[in-house]
Amino acid sequence: MSSSRVIPLYDARRVVTSPALQLLPEGALVADQLGRPLRDLRISVTDRCNFRCGYCMPKQVFDKHHQFLPHAELLSFEEITRLARVFVGLGVEKLRITGGEPTLRRGLEDLIAMLAELRTPDGRELDLTLTTNGSLLTRKAAALKAAGLKRLTVSLDGLDDAVFQRMNDVGFPVSDVLDGIQAARDAGLGPIKVNMVVQRGVNDDQVLPMARHFRGSGVVLRFIEFMDVGATNGWRMDQVLPSAELLQRLQAEFPLVPLSASAPGETAERWGYADGAGEIGLISSVTQAFCGDCNRARLSTEGQLYTCLFATRGHDLRTLLRGPAAASDEQLAGAVAGVWGQRADRYSQLRGSGIELPADERRVEMHYIGG
Ligand code: SAM
Ligand code: SF4
Ligand code: SF4
Repeated sequence: MSSSRVIPLYDARRVVTSPALQLLPEGALVADQLGRPLRDLRISVTDRCNFRCGYCMPKQVFDKHHQFLPHAELLSFEEITRLARVFVGLGVEKLRITGGEPTLRRGLEDLIAMLAELRTPDGRELDLTLTTNGSLLTRKAAALKAAGLKRLTVSLDGLDDAVFQRMNDVGFPVSDVLDGIQAARDAGLGPIKVNMVVQRGVNDDQVLPMARHFRGSGVVLRFIEFMDVGATNGWRMDQVLPSAELLQRLQAEFPLVPLSASAPGETAERWGYADGAGEIGLISSVTQAFCGDCNRARLSTEGQLYTCLFATRGHDLRTLLRGPAAASDEQLAGAVAGVWGQRADRYSQLRGSGIELPADERRVEMHYIGG
């Protein structure tokens, strides 16, 4: 990631108050150009991973020659916590720790403990969660729970070892991820969600086995459409299994009924098993854009703020944290509010609309800004 792609921060003193800022949604402290509040912050704590999922970090690109960020470039736990506090002051209620593989970051439980202390301006606890490939959970779940983590999401793309090992591309076995999920449950983390990215012709034969496996277990299985995020995963529309088709396949075996959304801006459409054996989620990022109420900001491993998963540019917050010209918390809040106030991103909506999208710049990679 070259820093030349990062544009300077808006100078909060020069930010023109957008009309949207006068139309704040109920309880919101800032709103973007489309009136969307800032509620959810995803924090990438490492750009490294022990898997090489082809849709995220293909082995051919992320090989031994790839230069990951040196440790000094990463935000420290103190810096992350300070920024998180500023975001919470602006309306963020949910923090998701991600990566790369977040459990590879040494001492992650110390960060969790620091973030678990934060409270909303009216004194409520935050929804603090983690997305992981599950590979280290048998070792780490108990410590994460003890540090204050409440729940987590584990990614798992199939139950058949041959399929899963082809997808993670490092030969990691399914049983170890299932053991990790069990360790998380034993530690008292919950509710647990399992994310499955579905690629037609690659792992779509795993949809029904996965549904059968997790049905009735208390784990919420969510199917994610293969997304054109980043610039290295060779995305093709014909590899996307539209959620509508996936739902038909599920319905043929298990009657499902629609459930209401759990929160505004929630990415998954919820469906319940008609016999009461739990629920599944459909994340239709490609076929049904959910930009309209997207309230998510992303903080990269090295402290760049991204206002969309498909952004090509970040806003440098780290410079405001470090060095002689370090900003006060109020100045940081002004800078973040300024960026959010200018936000007009709605990539997924535009993708389906026929409007031409800028193609000249490389989009940022998912493992760098976090899923
Ligand atoms: N390593 C952790 C993991 O895999 O859960 C956290 C980071 S990963 C980037 C976060 C989520 O993004 C995972 O659930 C992953 O499956 C999803 N993801 C990555 N690339 C994707 C793509 N091209 N399309 C859809 N989902 C993707
Ligand atoms: Fe690693 Fe997660 Fe990306 Fe897979 S999806 S390569 S586990 S960061
Ligand atoms: Fe949010 Fe950007 Fe995804 Fe739309 S495309 S839902 S604005 S992250």
